[in-house]
Order: sequence, then structure tokens, then C-alpha cells
Amino acid sequence: MMGPSHALSGAAVWLAGSWALDHFAGYEQSPLALAVGTAVCAGGALFPDLDLSGKVTRNQGGATVARTFGVFSLFLAEVMEKVSLGVYYATKLSRDPRRSNGHRTLTHTIPFTVLVGWGTTTLCAAYGKWAVIGILFFMFGLALRGLFDEWAERAGWVVVTLASLGAAWFTFANLPGDRGYPMIGLAVGVGCFVHILGDMITRAGVPILWPIPIKRRMWTPVSLPDSIALRAGGKTEVVVVRAALTVIAVLAAVGLVAPSLLQRFDIEV
Ligand SMILES: [Zn+2]
Repeated sequence: MMGPSHALSGAAVWLAGSWALDHFAGYEQSPLALAVGTAVCAGGALFPDLDLSGKVTRNQGGATVARTFGVFSLFLAEVMEKVSLGVYYATKLSRDPRRSNGHRTLTHTIPFTVLVGWGTTTLCAAYGKWAVIGILFFMFGLALRGLFDEWAERAGWVVVTLASLGAAWFTFANLPGDRGYPMIGLAVGVGCFVHILGDMITRAGVPILWPIPIKRRMWTPVSLPDSIALRAGGKTEVVVVRAALTVIAVLAAVGLVAPSLLQRFDIEV
């Protein structure tokens, strides 16, 4: 899937999940907590593709997400790609092919998803609001890149960086400290997981079973069969999938926010 679809799927899943939690378990979130969770999950849904690096020294190439914060995130992508490749070679079995880059390996696995979610939660718990602001800044940047891709392209990375910083600061100042932290880690983890699923329904295989060895392969690519898989960036993905995700996101958001709005204006339901 392309960046905008990944980000949109993260947002839709978070909103739908929040609606389900609210509706079936009575777990309510403030509008700000909802907005933050949705943005973080949208950003998290782009995070695994930060393993697509370009040429840092010449400031060229890289996935769109790798360019979110200009050459800084391009450098991070380079590190993530090399670390992923290192882990690939460290764990590869005899039937795993040789590779020259680490794209769609480590960052597209369940252990990575869990590690990122757990790591985020741990950072937030250990360093409190300063860790929160840093993580929010980063995730907001990715979310802006994904959800408003055309705007981000025109605005450039400096504006995206400043906008993310502003949004992170605003959240930092307004989000109560009591129950927001584990939700941030969860949102990042869920986002990463949704990304992997998104890549699986396109023809790009992901090593979702790693580290389970199968027939002398540790990095078995898993995807839908070609006949029903979506073509990345094809019409079905860009039109049908994005429209469906938008409808889900909007319905869930309305379902979450409408009751309290009606209540505020004293309208009986
Ligand atoms: Zn991917």
C-alpha cells in the first residue's frame, strides 16, 4: 500500500476500535485523547516504512515518510534499514535469499511491532511528558505526511516539522497525565501492525511469521495470492480502499463525538 492508505488505515482502525471500546466496554476518551490516539496510530502506520532509505550524504531518495523531517529522518531511515539488514543476515537460514537492503524485513514483523509499542510505553513512563512530547512530535509528522500528502509535499519538511512541533506542544499542554501514556504506546503498536496487514493485502509479501523457521526459511514472505491481492497504488487501492477507510473513520468519529455533542445542547436521544 501507498503511504496515504497506510496512514488512513491507522486512523480508521484507531477510531473504530475506540468506538467499539466506548460502545461495548464503556471506555470513554476525551475528544483530545481521541484525536491524539488517531494521529499517533496514523503515524505509527507509516513507521515500518522508515526502513526505506535513500542517499543521506547527497540528501536523495528514500520513501516519502523517510523525508518527513528532511535529511534527519533520511538518516534515521538509513540506520533502520542497515539494522534491519543486519538482523536479516544474523537470523537468515539456508533458503532465505541474499539481500542488498533491509526494506520490508525487521520492521514488518510482529516482534518489532510489540517492541515499538512496549518501548514507547516504557519511554513515556520513564521520562514522562518530555518523552510524550518527543514521540508525539515524531508521530504527528508522519501522520501529516501520510494523511495530507499533497499539502506536505507542497509545504516541504520544514513546515511539516514546525506544524508537528506546534501540535505536540499543544497536546503536551492540554493532555492530562493520568491515562494518556499507555494509550500512546498502544496506538504506535497498533499502527505498525495495521501497516503490516496493509502490505499483506497488496502483493508485497511481509515476513509476518518471523522468527518461526519454515522449510529452512526464517523470512518467509506472506501475502494474499496474486489473483486477489491489490496492486499497490492501483485504482482499487487509491479509490475503493481509501473511500472505505474514510467512511469507517468518519462513521466511528461521528459515533464517538455525537452523543456528547447532543448532550451538551440538551438534545434527548
Ligand atoms: Zn511497508
